Amino acid sequence: MTPLTSIDFPGRLAAVLFLQGCPWRCGYCHNPELLPARADTGLAWEQVEAFLQRRRGLLDAVVFSGGEPTSQATLADALARVRELGFQTGLHTGGMYPQRLHTLLPQLDWIGLDIKAPDEDYDRITTRRGSAGPVRRSLDAILHSGVDFECRTTWHPGLFSLESLHRLGRDLHARGVRHWAVQACREAGHPPPRLDAGEQARLGQGFERFEFRAG
Ligand code: SF4
Repeated sequence: MTPLTSIDFPGRLAAVLFLQGCPWRCGYCHNPELLPARADTGLAWEQVEAFLQRRRGLLDAVVFSGGEPTSQATLADALARVRELGFQTGLHTGGMYPQRLHTLLPQLDWIGLDIKAPDEDYDRITTRRGSAGPVRRSLDAILHSGVDFECRTTWHPGLFSLESLHRLGRDLHARGVRHWAVQACREAGHPPPRLDAGEQARLGQGFERFEFRAG
């Protein structure tokens, strides 16, 4: 748990809960200890609730992150409990379980959906076959739900080209995405990529909100 952050749910002060488990194995994953479904290092839910009780009126929201939080079958119960305590709910997801996400949508106030790459590059990044299709279905479900969200893309020219990044942005915009963030990927042995103001303006064209997060 991160007890306080102002950057994981736009415009809200939030605590972040990092949930175990993810079926993908991206080379740049910054939380590899969270990939197994279980670990000995977790907080008991009672400890989380005790913390949240003390933060009522001080925090706006709780964000569920990971790993892949929709891997956990009890996420719906946790979201319900967090709302009962008076907090808004946020979710960071890779979108690999569109059906689960669809059932969770009524319980969510904001979503950060990872869009890792153009479709043809997806499997190389996630190292899992057929990974782009479920994410497209998740994005469709979010778009139809009306839940506030942003798409976020972790990028380095070694992952896919700048031209492909532009094409991805045009595709997202055409599908109805209004908020897009490109996050500089820090790869071992490589400096994080920089984009000048003109390039950022071209990438962000048409979006209501575009951010380049240099890290
Ligand atoms: S989807 Fe996220 S948590 Fe899972 S391996 Fe990729 S970067 Fe790590």
